[in-house]
Order: sequence, then C-alpha cells, then structure tokens
Amino acid sequence: MRMGRPCVGRPFCVWKRRCGGCRVGGMRTMAGLMVLCAVQVASAQTSREMNELNWMEFRELVPARIRTVLLPTGTVEAHGVIHNGADNTAPQDLAREMAPKLDALVAPLIPYGVTGSLDGYAGTFQVSEGAYRLFVGDVLKGLARNGFMNIIVINGHGGPQTAILNELAEKVGREERVRVMVTNWWAICSDVTLKVFGEDGGHAGWNETAFTQAKHASLVRKERYSEELETPRPAAGTWYAFPFPTPVILYQPGQGSVRFDQTKAEEYYAAVVERMTAVVKETIEKWDRAQLFQFRNSGVPGGSSGGGPQR
Ligand SMILES: [Zn+2]
Repeated sequence: MRMGRPCVGRPFCVWKRRCGGCRVGGMRTMAGLMVLCAVQVASAQTSREMNELNWMEFRELVPARIRTVLLPTGTVEAHGVIHNGADNTAPQDLAREMAPKLDALVAPLIPYGVTGSLDGYAGTFQVSEGAYRLFVGDVLKGLARNGFMNIIVINGHGGPQTAILNELAEKVGREERVRVMVTNWWAICSDVTLKVFGEDGGHAGWNETAFTQAKHASLVRKERYSEELETPRPAAGTWYAFPFPTPVILYQPGQGSVRFDQTKAEEYYAAVVERMTAVVKETIEKWDRAQLFQFRNSGVPGGSSGGGPQR
C-alpha cells in the first residue's frame, strides 16, 4: 500500500506533497533541489505494512509520526462454502482499509488461532490455548516495545479466542502501559448486518460470506451451498456438540441463510469498514482526552523514545 503521489516534475523527487523544491521550481539550484528531495525521500513513508518497511523507515515513523498499529488475528477453520482462511482474510482486509483512515500501521497477521467447536473439519487447525496465549502476548509486548501507544487487535475469529485476547489486552496494557483494544467486527457490526440484509447473520452465514464475496468473489463456492450446511446456534444450556454438526451456524433460526448478492456484499463491506473505523477512532480519541498512558516508561510523552499525542 503506497501513500502520497509520485512527483513527475523533478527527477530526484518521489513524493510531491512532501517536497518543497517542487513548489519553488526554478528559484532553487539543481544542487539545492537534490539535497531537499534526498532528505524528503529518506523520510517518505512507503508503506503501512510492517512487513514492507525497513528498520530505518520504521524508526523514522514510530512513535514520532505513527502511534497506532492494527494487528489482524484469525484462525483456519471451516466456513460453509467460503475458504478456510475467511477469518484471516477478513481482518487483514479490514486492517488495510482502516490503516490510512486511522494513520496506523498494519502488523503481520497471526493466522493460527484457538478454533473451538469447528475443529475437526478438514483443513481446520487448533492451536492450544497455552501456546496461543504466550505467543500472542509476546507479539503484543513486541508492538508496545517498538513504540506503539495504541494497539488495536482486529480479530477475525470468536469462540474461545476472543476471551483470551481480552485477557491479554488487559495484562499487556497494564504491564507495558499501552492502550490495547480488541475488536470483533461481526459483533460490532450486528446492527449493520440487520440494516443491509434485513435479518441477523451467522458464522459463515450471509453476513460473513458477503464480506468475503465483496473482495474475493472467486473464493465463494456458491454451487456447493445448501441448507443442509446450516444449524441455528442452540440456546444457552440446551445442547452442545463437538464437533459442531454443520459449519454454518445461524445466530437465530430462520435468519442468516446465505444468498449471494454482489451488490449487498459490497454495500456491507463498505459499511463494516466505516463502522469499524469509527469505533476505533472514537476509542483512541477518548484515550487521548483522558491522557491515559501518555507518560509511560521513562516519563517521556509517548514512551521511552518520545513522540507527541496521537493526531
Ligand atoms: Zn469466520
């Protein structure tokens, strides 16, 4: 993901909006332009993906210019007639859409998770809770120690995983004096689901399938769908079965059955991105207003390596 616009007017300048030389044109000597542009190229942000930044670029950005990171978490599990990685592509897509709107970086995805009752379907994985807790805890600590003040988990999988992430958010947040938020997009957007589809959704139901269909239509195997893949979620205390007998779990009986409507899928995708961005933005603004953990570690604003308040 690239930011800014390339400068076509000057041979040494890549980032037009950052380059003072472009605005003054012939008033400066070519040597002056070269120096100016070289400085700007060195500090230009080339990507919002942590995977794609080198250490010098990262050092220039965090925490001086960017203090928020989005960490996508998912798992590999059966999802009706969409891909087993649906809980990975959804949070990754979301994080990439949200990052420019929140002036954030995107951390590498954590693709294996604590799957739960759908473990047992072909191609599904389950990481043990203890291993997951240690690993994700260390990832969160690593993000804090690299200077991020706002760590936002964009979670793609519920079940037992959400509870673990919530506990880790509190533990790492308290120990590292950073702000950590765990977001579950399908739950945050339950009213968006009702609005767009006129009914509730389900695991691998219309809502989740539509989110995939919007950007990855080739991963939706429409011809394989049948109502035999669906079971309504049992009311609390009525029954439990492992593995759950179908991979589509409707939140409510008679609602969320998958229909494959590309227009609604795209409408839903855009509305989910908008809602998720708003929820995270509001939380960061509230953290800032309350000045929570603004003076962490050595007492320097924004952490041991400095930095001002979140823009
Ligand atoms: Zn899912």
